[in-house]
Amino acid sequence: MNGKVLLVTGSSRGIGAATALLAAKQGYAVCLNYINDEKSAFCIRDEILNLGGKCIAVRADVSNEHQVTKVFDDIDRQLGVITHLVNNVGILKQKMPLIDMEGERFQQVLLTNVMSHFYCSREAIKRMSLSKGGFGGSIVNVSSGAAKSGSPFEYIDYAASKGAVDTFTTGLSKEVAADGIRVNCVRPGGIYTDIHADGGEPSRVDRIAKNFPMQRGGTPEEVANAILWLLSDEASFVTGSFIDLCGGV
Ligand code: NAP
Repeated sequence: MNGKVLLVTGSSRGIGAATALLAAKQGYAVCLNYINDEKSAFCIRDEILNLGGKCIAVRADVSNEHQVTKVFDDIDRQLGVITHLVNNVGILKQKMPLIDMEGERFQQVLLTNVMSHFYCSREAIKRMSLSKGGFGGSIVNVSSGAAKSGSPFEYIDYAASKGAVDTFTTGLSKEVAADGIRVNCVRPGGIYTDIHADGGEPSRVDRIAKNFPMQRGGTPEEVANAILWLLSDEASFVTGSFIDLCGGV
């Protein structure tokens, strides 16, 4: 019988890596995905293999439709039928107001943060759907607290892309519920990862967390715990739902 087979997009570091590791410890066969940092991705893969888990690491730009198809071909051949998907990939760019942003930036942010979710979910659903001979499944999208704040003067493009992820979650959850697939979403905020350096402020979490009700930032592992719960049968009656992980913001 097919076991639990999971793809985590963007999992060479940060929340994706923590999710992949926790999933492997819980018995999922895991497909890691990365675009540049092969060394880190192979480190995570080797850690999972050393734990006795099943894991492959696939370099692919998941904002590219053809490369996504290849990732799913690799999963089909090497791990079996996909049953779980975490659409984790997400990028942000240097902080600035909208009037200073270049058009190319909008394209890259939307392609990576939104289109990748469309491509990966479509390929997963083709394989998971009960009506197509699949085993059913569970999808978790990684949005952001920015979907609600809008991130003015910083990354309004990123925030809007996360708003799209929220709406996609709501619509898709209804579209595939009768086919045995649940679709949920987490909205982190202020998590200690390297994404903040990409926005030009590596110590951003320390600055903003002072204003969080919980007065601290979060860890990738805390987000991974919520993702793994939503993926699991423990959440069997939960779909179209959102968990905010923002320290009370
Ligand atoms: P991160 O540390 O910057 O990691 C990003 C990951 O995505 C890396 O593994 C990177 O691979 C990969 N990646 C980037 N572009 C890719 C592409 N086109 N195709 C495939 N992989 C790609 O990010 P993070 O902070 O863990 O964030 C993960 C998710 O949480 C994102 O959706 C982010 O928006 C969301 N989030 C984070 C926070 C936070 O405070 N950290 C808050 C709210 C929401 P390489 O290493 O190979 O480049």
